[in-house]
Amino acid sequence: MASVAASLSSRSAKQKAEVARNYQKDGKVGEGAYAVVYSGIQLSTKRKVAIKKIKLGQFRDGLDMSAIREVKTLQELRHPNVVELVEVFYQKTNLNLVLEFLESDLEMVIKDKSIVFMPGDVKHWMLMTLRGLDHCHRNWILHRDMKPNNLLIGHDGQLKIADFGLARDFGDRGRQLTSQVVTRWYRAPELLFGAREYGYGVDIWAVGCIFAELLLRNPYLPGNSDMDQINIMFQALGTPTEADWPGLSTLPNFMQYRQYPKTPLRLLFTAAGADTLELLESMLIYDPNKRISAREALLHPYFFNKPRPTKLENLPKPARETEQAVLKRKAAELGELTNAPKKR
Ligand code: ADP
Repeated sequence: MASVAASLSSRSAKQKAEVARNYQKDGKVGEGAYAVVYSGIQLSTKRKVAIKKIKLGQFRDGLDMSAIREVKTLQELRHPNVVELVEVFYQKTNLNLVLEFLESDLEMVIKDKSIVFMPGDVKHWMLMTLRGLDHCHRNWILHRDMKPNNLLIGHDGQLKIADFGLARDFGDRGRQLTSQVVTRWYRAPELLFGAREYGYGVDIWAVGCIFAELLLRNPYLPGNSDMDQINIMFQALGTPTEADWPGLSTLPNFMQYRQYPKTPLRLLFTAAGADTLELLESMLIYDPNKRISAREALLHPYFFNKPRPTKLENLPKPARETEQAVLKRKAAELGELTNAPKKR
């Protein structure tokens, strides 16, 4: 954080005002847990950008920390599959993160039923996701909120990991972390059992759930409570035993659950090839120590076998949403969340 704070505070008031004046904020494109996101223009270059406006000082529960973490992480991570942080500036009590603008995300693509996915499309989206994630993990950063709507897609088809508000450094063994991370449907079993020490496996599990969702065109494990999440997971993948996962019974929230048998993935993923299922299975291994890493996954035969990943320019894109449609979609989702218990 030192570099962010230093670069911000070393600017004179005049310089700060100049930086802010270089951006024109347009319509609202999204609202997250702690920020409002606008589309905008960098006036000096005419580049379209996204401006994530975070009001500082209004939260007591560490949300300011999320903003700081996000800036720090994005400054450290420069990669074609990680969203680019263009600039940071203060305006009044707001911290503004200027990000490259990406028009859609993987959730929009999955939900757009007018699009038919080819196996090569799924392969390229997985490849880009894993390349971005491998870069995070090589830099000792856990994302901790991998899900389809945090995988943004640009006009050129590039997929980029975004929303690093929950990201953390990892690597110190014994360091206690919170288990209340990762949107429930993508949450790894060790988090559901309250583990305070965990690693890259939590992101890989989430990527496994995203992979399954791309194959099914529906969320794979859509639990409507933490208990339900565990139940759905066990039904899908079998109840784990101490033999599958040594140490399981010592996790803080471990309980004895109903024993479900393990059903082969091919019974649900009927159209997927053997290499696809093998990679998927290695991401959804209960024991985090046995789960595949992003680096290993990138070397899996799935990525080298046919079909080849679809060329970037040929990847399907959702019908361009107008701002109106975005607002309508968000309002509809909000309605869904308040009416139904299925909250992710
Ligand atoms: P939060 O961290 O508060 O959850 P997000 O980073 O997820 O916020 O952003 C909220 C929404 O804003 C996203 O779902 C997306 O619609 C939009 N958004 C975020 N970043 C960008 C970007 N770089 N380009 C375009 N839209 C974005």
